[in-house]
Amino acid sequence: MCVISSFFLCFSAVFPALAENGVYRCVATDEKKIALTFDDGPHYKYTDEILDILEKYGVKATFFVIGVNAERHPEKVKRIASSGHEIGNHTYSHPHLKKVSAQELEAEIEKASEVISRLTGKKPVLFRPPEGYCGADVSSTAKKSGCDVILWSHDTRDWAHTPSETISQRILDGVGCGDIILFHDFITPDTPTPSALETVIPRLIERGYEFVSVSELIS
Ligand SMILES: [Zn+2]
Repeated sequence: MCVISSFFLCFSAVFPALAENGVYRCVATDEKKIALTFDDGPHYKYTDEILDILEKYGVKATFFVIGVNAERHPEKVKRIASSGHEIGNHTYSHPHLKKVSAQELEAEIEKASEVISRLTGKKPVLFRPPEGYCGADVSSTAKKSGCDVILWSHDTRDWAHTPSETISQRILDGVGCGDIILFHDFITPDTPTPSALETVIPRLIERGYEFVSVSELIS
């Protein structure tokens, strides 16, 4: 659960310089709100599977799409947006940010925002750096493009092909008010993500949780 103490603890342990600088990892709240986030899409197959599950339970989420994937699958981006989900910027080509200058990062963010804006009519206001890398220039560069930086408080490790039962149990045991949960659209082959969602979403709804977009959570 994201309480104030763990909020500052997580920042001070991992991203000490960025705690008050437009970077969010979770939100300290006692409202039963959680943000599901999906990185690296859209994917030709799994994005639709995920959207079908979210739609089945009436759940809103946030998708941090990669610009090149958005160009490859414009219809998926349009479906995400028309279903009422939020779309965030996850760079144009998903570079390793350690090796990228501030100017190159700005170009990556701007190019991805252009693609997303063209497809949805809406410019993203959230940026998630690839691999959660938050070096010195990341926050200020994202800010120049009008984006807050969004990390996460719970990593499902779906990217490591963690079994869906393990992902589900860890979420049900450890997630609470104000958490931002990291999933991925694009795990191949045999992604555990849709199966884990099918387990955790109805259980968390039973517990009284509401799933909201990241912008709604942080507002
Ligand atoms: Zn990524």
